[in-house]
Amino acid sequence: MLRDKIKIPISELEQSSFCRSDDGLNSKTLEEEFNAGVRWQKLPIEYMRTSPEDLEANILSARKKLGDRVVILGHHYQRDEVIKFADLRGDSFKLSQYAAEQKNAEYIVFCGVHFMAETADILSSDHQKVILPNLTAGCSMADMAQTDDVLDCWDDLMDIMNVDDITPIAYMNSTADIKSLCGENGGVICTSSNAKQIFDWAYKQRGKILFLPDQHLGRNTAVNMGINLSEIIVWDPFKPLGGNTKEEIDNSKLILWKGHCSVHARFSTDQINKARKEDPNINIIVHPECTLDVVKSADYYGSTEYIKKMIDEAESGSSWGIGTEISMVNRLSEENPDKKIFCLDSVVCPCSTMYRIHPAYLSWILDGLLENKVINQIKVPTNVKKYSKISLNRMLELN
Ligand code: SF4
Repeated sequence: MLRDKIKIPISELEQSSFCRSDDGLNSKTLEEEFNAGVRWQKLPIEYMRTSPEDLEANILSARKKLGDRVVILGHHYQRDEVIKFADLRGDSFKLSQYAAEQKNAEYIVFCGVHFMAETADILSSDHQKVILPNLTAGCSMADMAQTDDVLDCWDDLMDIMNVDDITPIAYMNSTADIKSLCGENGGVICTSSNAKQIFDWAYKQRGKILFLPDQHLGRNTAVNMGINLSEIIVWDPFKPLGGNTKEEIDNSKLILWKGHCSVHARFSTDQINKARKEDPNINIIVHPECTLDVVKSADYYGSTEYIKKMIDEAESGSSWGIGTEISMVNRLSEENPDKKIFCLDSVVCPCSTMYRIHPAYLSWILDGLLENKVINQIKVPTNVKKYSKISLNRMLELN
């Protein structure tokens, strides 16, 4: 019991710190945001006390002086006060492609979370430096698959089968260590945009898949491919053989790591039923990190980019209940004023780890670059880079 508690990522515990039902998500000074009791990276006090307006002016000025020495990549789940400075926006897949394409900028500033900055470092050129403005911007889902636990799982599996029997597939939302394990063992990376395509490829190579860390994306993808739920098992890293018998493992087609996204796990069929009751013409669209029952109850489901495309291209006057991160839903609503758009969860609850990129951090690291100081560089060790690059490139080639 105690072990379970210790193993809950800090970010998961923090998830509700910024949930509110009474106001929007406008940034306050960082000092005020720290009052929510969060444990974010410390930075010089002057940045903590600078008002949001002054931070914006500082960032604009630093950005201008740095010119094309810097490219800023921003994930759709970033706050408005940060995403507005992104040169390129996207979901984790699109951003990984952008990172691979940036050949000239000296610095890639990644306004996203830790695993994304690692991926950018793996895919970018040797002369480039990748920076994550706040080092504590992790991902609670990625934190649920710790390297030692995954290595133990792989060793256990290799005791009862051969490497030729099973393909390890890591969701993009995983650490470089896990991506490396996949690369070293004939595996690959996937995102929510290409999971089905990658699973199809994997089943042509070998009979089984180990998918980690998001059990929901794995289950939703497999069910969509016609795999029976009885052929899908869950690997709990705190139980011997993941809580399964050898026979259950032998009979399975898909082994899912017991991880989830603390943001998308908030959506429920009750919210969907309520939305349909209030507006019978509503379209429901959700992210595949939601549970299987939520995905089955929705009209559409797909990656962040898919959701954005569907809403942007929807008929004027149509209504949409969306099951994904609130900063993105709010932005879609602002960008599509002719459509009725709302988040299925009535509590305003951003991804707590994406939210850690406060404009104060962006201002701090850009000022550092003006003084030729690289703050918060993300550098994947060479031995990990080698195999994680193989698994990422395998995905990009298959795409
Ligand atoms: S939305 Fe979920 S999966 Fe994405 S960064 Fe936040 S916690 Fe991680």
